[in-house]
Amino acid sequence: MPRFHCPVPLASGEALDLPPGAARHVQVLRMQPGHRITLFNGEGGEFDAVVERMGRSDVGVRIEAHHAVEREAAREVHLAAVMPANERMDWLVEKATELGAASIQPLVAERSVLRLAGERAAKKQAHWQAVAVAACEQCGRNRVPAVREVADLRAWLANGNASQAHRLLLSLRAGTRPLRIAAGDGAALFLSGPEGGFTEAEEEAALAAGFQPVTLGPRVLRAETAALAALAALAALA
Ligand code: SAH
Repeated sequence: MPRFHCPVPLASGEALDLPPGAARHVQVLRMQPGHRITLFNGEGGEFDAVVERMGRSDVGVRIEAHHAVEREAAREVHLAAVMPANERMDWLVEKATELGAASIQPLVAERSVLRLAGERAAKKQAHWQAVAVAACEQCGRNRVPAVREVADLRAWLANGNASQAHRLLLSLRAGTRPLRIAAGDGAALFLSGPEGGFTEAEEEAALAAGFQPVTLGPRVLRAETAALAALAALAALA
């Protein structure tokens, strides 16, 4: 059944005009009165709904039963990723959402190819948040991971944003222990580097902020592969 993110209050039995994003989506699918859909607003669970009215651009639905179902990962895993360039970050946000990332922090580092700030960064953040919403609609998640404001890696490490959770640094340094985390370890946050790798000073700053270096094996993975491999290991399969 088609699922739509509907970020407004939802209550069983009520009639609702879908907000513009969901309405457009239903229009594009050429749905008709009587068609059944699923709505979720990120507040928990999902609702059955029936299309009652198709206007020129507006869509009226009747909200039916609520189902208190969540499809979150067993462990809360937060991703802080130095952004890869081009459409690779879109791809990373989509796949990280599917794999259960609890939040996504885009970062800029010294060797970043993609350097975003100001209005362009805000636009991209909104775009990636929409990518995460679409991924939730597709994969069944009822909680949308927050895509945070683009930040500079060193500033982000320095201001304590990374102080909660079990902190792991995806590192290519020799002698690093393999990524492994005990079942009872609770929430995790991991940091992955840019295409060009972290600088020595950045790795040191991450260690000083309490990150433990971990390896994903002897191959040099692309930035987005490394982040997704760690998520798959920590969130999807935990
Ligand atoms: N040219 C860079 C490669 C960076 S790979 C270099 O040689 O240093 C991009 C990022 O992916 C790295 O910064 C690291 O965070 C992560 N990564 C890639 N392969 C990894 C591995 N085998 N183990 C742990 N992290 C890895």
